[in-house]
Amino acid sequence: MNDIFMEIRRLFGKLLPGWIAMLIVVCFLLLGIFQPLEWMTYNSLFRLRGNTNWNQQIVVVTIDEKSLAEFKQFPWPRTRYIELLNVLDKAQPNVVTFDIIFSDSSPDDVALAKAMKQHGKVILAEAWDTQGKPWFPVPELEQAAITTGHIFGSKDGDGMIRKVQPLINGIPSLGIAAIQTYGTFTKIPPLPNLDKPLSINWPSQVKQMPHYSFVDVVQGKVSADIFKNKIVLVGVTAPGIDVLVTPFNYDPPTGGVYLHATFINNVFGHNFLHLFSPGAWIILLLLAGPVWGLVIVRWHSREKLEFCIGLCVIWECFSLLMLKINYWLPVAAPITLLGMTTGIVIWQYNIHLKAQNQILYRLANYDSLTQIPNRRQFDEYFQQEWKRMAREKSALSLILCDVDFFKRYNDTYGHQAGDSCLQKVAFSMSQAIKRPSDLVARYGGEEFVVILPNTTVEGAMIVAEEIRSQVKILAISHTASEVSQYVTVSLGIASIIPVPDLPSAFLIKTADEALYRAKKEGRDRFCMIASQDLGIN
Ligand code: GH3
Ligand code: MG
Ligand code: MG
Repeated sequence: MNDIFMEIRRLFGKLLPGWIAMLIVVCFLLLGIFQPLEWMTYNSLFRLRGNTNWNQQIVVVTIDEKSLAEFKQFPWPRTRYIELLNVLDKAQPNVVTFDIIFSDSSPDDVALAKAMKQHGKVILAEAWDTQGKPWFPVPELEQAAITTGHIFGSKDGDGMIRKVQPLINGIPSLGIAAIQTYGTFTKIPPLPNLDKPLSINWPSQVKQMPHYSFVDVVQGKVSADIFKNKIVLVGVTAPGIDVLVTPFNYDPPTGGVYLHATFINNVFGHNFLHLFSPGAWIILLLLAGPVWGLVIVRWHSREKLEFCIGLCVIWECFSLLMLKINYWLPVAAPITLLGMTTGIVIWQYNIHLKAQNQILYRLANYDSLTQIPNRRQFDEYFQQEWKRMAREKSALSLILCDVDFFKRYNDTYGHQAGDSCLQKVAFSMSQAIKRPSDLVARYGGEEFVVILPNTTVEGAMIVAEEIRSQVKILAISHTASEVSQYVTVSLGIASIIPVPDLPSAFLIKTADEALYRAKKEGRDRFCMIASQDLGIN
């Protein structure tokens, strides 16, 4: 039962990074934080994908820089469009669609209306301004048109139009109006669902679109056959008038007519973009994060990172392939999910590693019974302080401390009581030292050692006496002792200003000698041997 519980806990720990990353990514998705990144990748994926074919049933008459240079300042008088309709009359296109709103009345409206009626297949544009105020053609022209279509496309935060609503308040978009009219003359492909916005699939640079300059058409420089039975769109592409930014045309941008030509091209090509619903994405993220976390948990950090980067690149390539078959996959959210899950798994592993290292460090440097530094740590610290005191020419003192008649204590009270006695002695010894640089360690068995850097023999004597009295104050009963009714300790002090060429073991040996003397003189006391006594300092 306990094992099952532990297994579940372990599995939960492994799944946790993926869940955390998934939660953050879902929150980011709901807050729209990824949106600018998705837009950026959308644009670059389009450029990477490159051009697609244009349907040759579409021809655009562009009011370009050349036409403006010839016919001067825009807007032009209505006579220009009458001239165009006269040319197109002979060319016999199926539909002529103006992406120009003739909303201001003009003395030539009657003449233009007459030309439009004569042609019979002219579609006009209409719109609403940002406050929803209509922006319609003047009544004479609206009546002369076969139908009208809206030119509204909702702009995203980065200024790009990615979706077009095919029907607004029952009014079709200019593209839909053109195709429906075109359908009265010739067979057209089935229309997409008009209730939902359609995602534009940009075909190419505007210059690849089948287009002819307005001035060339009006001046008869373009063969009439080009327009025969086609959908002709007329609109501005000259800079700064009807600005349209696309992934292919952003610097400089192009004009709105390109959007409507693209829309018609997408209808003919059945290639509007397909998007995954946000719900599908959230479910995918719910699974992908924890699964990825589970897969990489056993790998090395480097492998984790390499595979994460690799998978991100694969996803980017996959998104590009999907765009080629008209699917727009989000890139920023999945890549963030992968990166974040990998980051959290590595971070979790590092915390685990730190804890393991701490355990190892404790095992290697601390005595398991008394929880004070062990012999290994003593040896290391003693060498270090020996050298430091030699450099500083300062006194280093060492106290060796041994529990009196401890064998008898064990024999009387048992080994466990002996262990507990050693723990108490070790604790009171560590309480007796005051400076951060002092160190109490278990030297072995019932022997302890104290290192006192920058401490003369006088200072060491105070510490030794403090230890002796503190241990006695513990009042641990020891009936088998010959010197007291309580547990006592004997201490040997050695002090020296380390000198080069003298081995550090010399101080330990001297402290041992002093301890021997303390034992010999009756225990429960300290003895000291200063270096001066040995004629060294
Ligand atoms: P003296 O007063 O001369 O120091 O006599 P002593 O009995 O203390 O010294 P001796 O070296 O003869 O005995 C030390 C004893 O300490 C022997 C050993 O069983 C005991 N001892 C050493 N380490 C431990 C330990 O970790 N736990 C317990 N319970 N006893 C220990
Ligand atoms: Mg001993
Ligand atoms: Mg002893």
